[in-house]
Amino acid sequence: MASSSRRRELDVAALVERARAGQPRAVAQLISLVEDASPQLREVAAALAPHAGTAQVIGLTGSPGVGKSTSTAALVSAYREAGHRVGVLAIDPSSPFSGGALLGDRIRMQVHATDPDVFIRSMATRGHLGGLSWAAPQALRVLDAVGFDVVLVETVGVGQSEVDVVSLADTTLVLVAPGMGDGIQAAKAGILEIADVFVVNKADRDGADRTARELKHMISLGRQELTGPSWRPPVVRTVADRGEGVKDVVEAIAEHRAWMVGNGELERRRQHRAQTEVEAIALQTLRERLADVAGSSALSALAGRVLAGELDPYAAADEVVRTLDTTP
Ligand code: GDP
Repeated sequence: MASSSRRRELDVAALVERARAGQPRAVAQLISLVEDASPQLREVAAALAPHAGTAQVIGLTGSPGVGKSTSTAALVSAYREAGHRVGVLAIDPSSPFSGGALLGDRIRMQVHATDPDVFIRSMATRGHLGGLSWAAPQALRVLDAVGFDVVLVETVGVGQSEVDVVSLADTTLVLVAPGMGDGIQAAKAGILEIADVFVVNKADRDGADRTARELKHMISLGRQELTGPSWRPPVVRTVADRGEGVKDVVEAIAEHRAWMVGNGELERRRQHRAQTEVEAIALQTLRERLADVAGSSALSALAGRVLAGELDPYAAADEVVRTLDTTP
């Protein structure tokens, strides 16, 4: 592949240095290495490792149309005003196309397009081996290590993706809007467990009060089952396209962070995140090795023995796994 061999020639140390000096093009190149699953990623990861772990990671999830992109843009403005460098990863688990105008870098983000202290990237994860679980944490790691102190991770709430965003974020915002049937449905989908902060966006619409009330009621019911100290997710109302209530969201995020720092939860979440990350890479490595075996004569020989009744499939699989152990 022409592109990967060209990339193989990149001077990783220089690239990381340029990215850390704030050059958006260098940051974009590093993230492209992640997306391409470049063989240079090991080198990149090693160069980044000493600098990672400082960014505050905020996840946003919710149904399509609820206002995630608008809210992300508004939050970027708020954090920029506070002097932070802000990275945005807009993850689209339903699309195989990357870098395009899918989520976060649509028109709403254009006010930030010329700000060198804002970096916005869409990532499509369908078709990626291991999906979000593998690529997104590495992209996040890049943004963290090159000096973005706040990283917003936006993902559409479909199926597994909300859960994935939780495993990435320090604080997860779940957005709902009045009249979208989100309230009760959300609770059923287990969204109560993942939200650190609920945002009722489109509070300019009828039914916002009711949606907020329903959420609060569900939160109080949910808490009865909990034991020990716990965080009660606040319900914040916003009109994201007018920037209303965004300050309250920022405050709620800060309070959640203070709570996590105070009781060790932040450390626990980050430990869990690192563990998931290592596991995802290990699985990816195993998959690649398995793919090598799948095309090998050794596997067809094993299959032949299973077919002949000499070997049961479990014993054959054990043999495959043993081969993986010894493959460098
Ligand atoms: P996403 O699909 O969740 O990212 O949602 P978008 O941010 O694209 O917003 C969907 C639509 O809702 C857009 O037309 C926005 O302009 C509009 N929108 C976003 N926030 C608000 C709000 O607070 N009130 C109203 N009335 N419309 C909003």
